[in-house]
Amino acid sequence: MAYRTENPATGAVEKEYNSATDADVTRAIERADAAFGTWRTTDASERAAVLTKVADIYDERADELARVIGAEMGKPLAQAQGEVALASSIFRWYAEHGEELLVEEQLNIGDDAKSLVVTDPIGVLMGVMPWNFPHYQVARFVAPNLMLGNTILLKHASICARTAELIEEILHAAGVPQDAYINLFVSNEQITSIIEDPRVRGVSLTGSEGAGKAVAETASQNLKKSVLELGGSDALIVLDDVDVAETAKAVATARMSNAGQACNSPKRIFVPSTMFDDFVNGVVATVEGIKVGNPDDEGTDMGPLSSVEARDDAIAQVERAVEQGATLRTGGTALEQDGAWMAPAVLTGVTREMDAFKEEIFGPVAVVYSYDSIDEAVELANDSSFGLSGSVWGKDTDKAEQIARRLEVGMTYVNEHGTTKAGLPFGGVRRSGYGRELGRWGFGEFANTKLVRVA
Ligand code: NDP
Repeated sequence: MAYRTENPATGAVEKEYNSATDADVTRAIERADAAFGTWRTTDASERAAVLTKVADIYDERADELARVIGAEMGKPLAQAQGEVALASSIFRWYAEHGEELLVEEQLNIGDDAKSLVVTDPIGVLMGVMPWNFPHYQVARFVAPNLMLGNTILLKHASICARTAELIEEILHAAGVPQDAYINLFVSNEQITSIIEDPRVRGVSLTGSEGAGKAVAETASQNLKKSVLELGGSDALIVLDDVDVAETAKAVATARMSNAGQACNSPKRIFVPSTMFDDFVNGVVATVEGIKVGNPDDEGTDMGPLSSVEARDDAIAQVERAVEQGATLRTGGTALEQDGAWMAPAVLTGVTREMDAFKEEIFGPVAVVYSYDSIDEAVELANDSSFGLSGSVWGKDTDKAEQIARRLEVGMTYVNEHGTTKAGLPFGGVRRSGYGRELGRWGFGEFANTKLVRVA
């Protein structure tokens, strides 16, 4: 795709960017490889200081960064500010914890030799990142790997090119060497050639299954490590001891955050049949109360979707669900104005035979299901090709925890959904991908865990 800023609130193309030539790509690989030789030998405290400075600049420029997110992909200002703060916290976390994660471990295996395990970087990495959390997704790949001593070539989503430029600018201003982090506006074919290059040692992608498959195939053909963070159709199970009105509001709000465009949004909501009608009424009331408006306006809850294509895809999924027998309780149509606007929707009556049960709906559509027993709810929740995260909501948190542990996903929660923090692992199973980001888990994905043994 062409790299450009097209404001999804208006449809106006605000800026177009030049793509990299093949010669630019070759030169970038050479530069990043040469930079690895020096960046890896810097003292860990020096790299930590650079990451702290990155976080400081993020904090100083938070408002500007948040407004660019809104202009490029439509996220309301308060949510965009939250994302920028999260990105900053990730750089700060690795600055604070990186040195302890690099400590050598002495193994005692009952013989007289010295056995040490050291953590080394592996070289140049390729990152392919999406638009839905354009700072956070990059931070969780870049912060641990720069701390470790790897160098990075970064291809951001074509619709958030300005954010891509800003990230590079901030990293360099903080002291990351020019060649240790290089932003590239490249095509899919150029990504393939980058992954094939012997100097590039691994690739991390956050995005769709199609993009994940393409990148993982090239990586595996070249015997390289890949980490994939793909889609999800997370289950959220409500137990019968909750406050119905309060929980319906919290759950609907969680689903509609970022206009529903989050991999780990609660896309399938399971509610006891005894409280189904009241719960659905609460969800519909909350969704109808959402203030859809300009991302920059104070009080906006939901902006446009990221693009007209993304909006049309979400609406087509709603229409197909209705054709297949589901009931549309509210919303689900395009707003009659320029830009990628959509009225947030609530669907009920979706059965497991319908596409809406099996597919990911990457937009503002809450789908509420009813269940009769906990076993049925767990079985329905696990009946998915995805396995990113899931949650259980109930006053009896011990009971809720036991149910949450039965979910076949990478992350489970009780009384919240999708919380992400720098120190917590993030990632899924099944078609949601493999590998983990953040915390100490994200630090190990592109590390050489090396044995040093002295007899
Ligand atoms: P895409 O997969 O199209 O885009 C993500 C990135 O991959 C972009 O940089 C894109 O570039 C690039 N890309 C697309 N096709 C290829 C290819 N064949 N080879 C290499 N790179 C490629 O995803 P969407 O923009 O549609 O984002 C939404 C999807 O991503 C959803 O399925 C969502 O669930 C998933 N996602 C998962 C997350 C997670 O953490 N698990 C987080 C966010 C989203 P370009 O923009 O130039 O097309």
